[in-house]
Amino acid sequence: MVPRVWHPFTQLQDFTPVGTVVGAEGLWLHLADGRRLADGIASWWTCLHGHRHPHLVQAVVHQAQAFDQVILADFDHAPAVNLTERLVALLPGDLNHVFFSDDGSTAVEVAIKLGWQAHRRAGNTRRNRLVAFEGGYHGDTLGAMRVGDRDTFAEPFLDLLGRVDLLPWNDADALADFLAEHGDEVALVIVEPLLQGAGGIRIGDAAVLRRIADLTRAAGAWLVADEVATGFGRTGTLFACEQAGVVPDLMCLAKALTGGMVTLGATAVRAPLFERFLGPTRREAFLHGHTYTGNPIACAAALASLDLIESEGTVARLARMETQWAAAAPGFSALPGVANVRWKGGVFALDLVGGPGGYLDPVERRVHRAALAEGLYVRPLGNVVYLWPPACVTDEELDWMLDVLRRVVEQEVTA
Ligand SMILES: *Cc1c(COP(=O)(O)O)cnc(C)c1O
Repeated sequence: MVPRVWHPFTQLQDFTPVGTVVGAEGLWLHLADGRRLADGIASWWTCLHGHRHPHLVQAVVHQAQAFDQVILADFDHAPAVNLTERLVALLPGDLNHVFFSDDGSTAVEVAIKLGWQAHRRAGNTRRNRLVAFEGGYHGDTLGAMRVGDRDTFAEPFLDLLGRVDLLPWNDADALADFLAEHGDEVALVIVEPLLQGAGGIRIGDAAVLRRIADLTRAAGAWLVADEVATGFGRTGTLFACEQAGVVPDLMCLAKALTGGMVTLGATAVRAPLFERFLGPTRREAFLHGHTYTGNPIACAAALASLDLIESEGTVARLARMETQWAAAAPGFSALPGVANVRWKGGVFALDLVGGPGGYLDPVERRVHRAALAEGLYVRPLGNVVYLWPPACVTDEELDWMLDVLRRVVEQEVTA
């Protein structure tokens, strides 16, 4: 029987779920059949501290007891105000204003619309181009897909997406050439700083990011840093932009923002852009909003997650994983069919070569199943196998995960 629940990115003909989750704690997912699985990808990069951290649970319960969803269009409340203050204090430079939304895709939609309209608010209608990078991923809604790679996911929707200028990843010279010709037509440049995530876990250089920022600013376009995946320590600093000394004009946050408790997106904006939306009437305002904008329970969870980032040294923990990745890397590189072993902060990845490659490479399902049989949950991006564990993982658990992965890769590549 086909399921009624429509699982994402999943062919539902002949689909059997991995299991039914009945509990979760720290690194572990507990299933109805008694198995427990290590969550090697922090449930799509959200559960920063691990599952069900008591401090997060308590924050959500407390907020739910005080008040639930409240319309933010006319009201203030402490969770939204305090979260904004906390984020502004932590964000680089003068990213002083925060627009809340629902998830990463909406945080990106907001950034694109803000950047676009801000030029028009200044009377400039010439800036019609959106610049992004090959291999990029910014979400699955149409606006976010417009600035994503034209990959397997985009293929059915090409006619709906509109134009984007996709430039080579991690190549500031290509951007310089493009801007030399089209600089005054560009509304914004959107980039995943230092680490492309869902497009294939590709690592970029801080020096290139720095130049991208300088070139973008010199061209009069806005720089959008999509830190939905990299934000909150994943690359070894609280925000990836910090490693390049870059202050973007807009920054998108989601995924680990609430530590995996509930969904929340945020778009942080620098003062010069924010001020373009001030004016005597509502026409000058940003006429955009999502029903659950600034949801108090989500904001309370995010505040609690920021507490933990401070009290548990989360960023240092993720940065320290690099020692273990580096120690394990030669063992992977020595395997036949393994290429590009790489890591950054709390992320470790490699490519399995020899098959068709790309997202639909059948090696993905083989690695997924073989790892599950050993108690490790991973979900490769096609032929890109990676670990993205929660910060609560112990050194021993991390070594165990790497051991499992090495065995699985060895077995499945030669299979
Ligand atoms: C996951 C992701 C998004 C989309 O976030 P959703 O919460 O899935 O909508 C956007 N940008 C980046 C960099 C992401 O990794």
